Amino acid sequence: MRFVDEYRDPAAAEGLLERIRALAPQAPSRFMEVCGGHTHTIYRHGLEQLLPPEVELVHGPGCPVCVIPMGRVDDAIALATTPGVTLATFGDLLRVPGSTGSLLDAKARGADVRVVYSPLDALALAVDHPDREVVFFAVGFETTAPSTARTVLRARDDRVANFAAFVNHVTIGPPLRAILGAPDADLDGLVGPGHVSTVIGLEPYRFVVDELATPIVVAGFEPLDLLDAVARLLAQRVEGRCEVENQYGRVVRPDGNPVARALLDEAFVTRPSFEWRGLGELPDSGLALRPELAAWDAEARFALPGRRVADPRACQCGQVLRGALKPWECKVFGTACTPEHPIGTCMVSSEGACAAYHRYGRLSHDVAVTLGRPRA
Ligand code: SF4
Repeated sequence: MRFVDEYRDPAAAEGLLERIRALAPQAPSRFMEVCGGHTHTIYRHGLEQLLPPEVELVHGPGCPVCVIPMGRVDDAIALATTPGVTLATFGDLLRVPGSTGSLLDAKARGADVRVVYSPLDALALAVDHPDREVVFFAVGFETTAPSTARTVLRARDDRVANFAAFVNHVTIGPPLRAILGAPDADLDGLVGPGHVSTVIGLEPYRFVVDELATPIVVAGFEPLDLLDAVARLLAQRVEGRCEVENQYGRVVRPDGNPVARALLDEAFVTRPSFEWRGLGELPDSGLALRPELAAWDAEARFALPGRRVADPRACQCGQVLRGALKPWECKVFGTACTPEHPIGTCMVSSEGACAAYHRYGRLSHDVAVTLGRPRA
């Protein structure tokens, strides 16, 4: 299959691993893969087992469902249980725990919660059901925010008055600044998020190298993409370089997607602050609809609890999202917290590190043998 098979070729993987094994002893490194999609590739293909012991990969905050705080889930449940409201959202958000249960629990109790595959599906629901108020629960980084923007602008242009968006979109720069700028930060490089970068391009990462002295390589999602990104990061360290590098050139353009960015500018403003699960309040990290779009803004049209809710005491998602803890090191991993009965968001989302390790962790060693040599 074009653009898949050639990025899973065992001989090419071995070539990259040889390069990594040659470079790693010169610069033992701890790299963070920012994106949850990368985490899944790493576990699914057993890449950790293929790397030499001088290279450690830790997981980052780039899973949009994982970083949504409990208070915002409570707000979504409040919307879903408002008489006359239909709440539409993506499937993996249904099982994210709020303080009193999930949207799936609310649906079981009779709330009108629908799964959609795009915000435009939610808008179509509103058009088809003029007797209902349809609210789209919007979550995601710059990758998905343009589709929410396009949908709200279309609702405005088509005068669909019974549609609104509950916007929880976030941006990738502030959490990277928070993690790398923390006093206990212990990272030697970032594997940059591929999907987000298709929209924002490379320039927004300039502060990572200029201010935080950390190399970053934006990478694709196939196993060879990630091995190549690790090799490139090691090469930067060994050669004394600190640059923003684009490994995912077949998709990511240096200036990103100007059309998508224009949509973001037209629909959104940056919030002064937004709460992230595990990272707390981060300045300039969330998007909100512009005041002139208030008629389609659920936060302007509905009374929401808006409470800040602490995570359950047993939950260590915050440490997982900062790369301070591996999923299996959480006290409740695989026991009290499972994909069927998640305590934290990292076990819910298809991009969550805990879900990835729970699904592939036991298999990863065997899979690694098919790509190259397993770690001794
Ligand atoms: S095992 Fe569950 S509670 Fe622990 S970090 Fe993962 S998702 Fe959070």
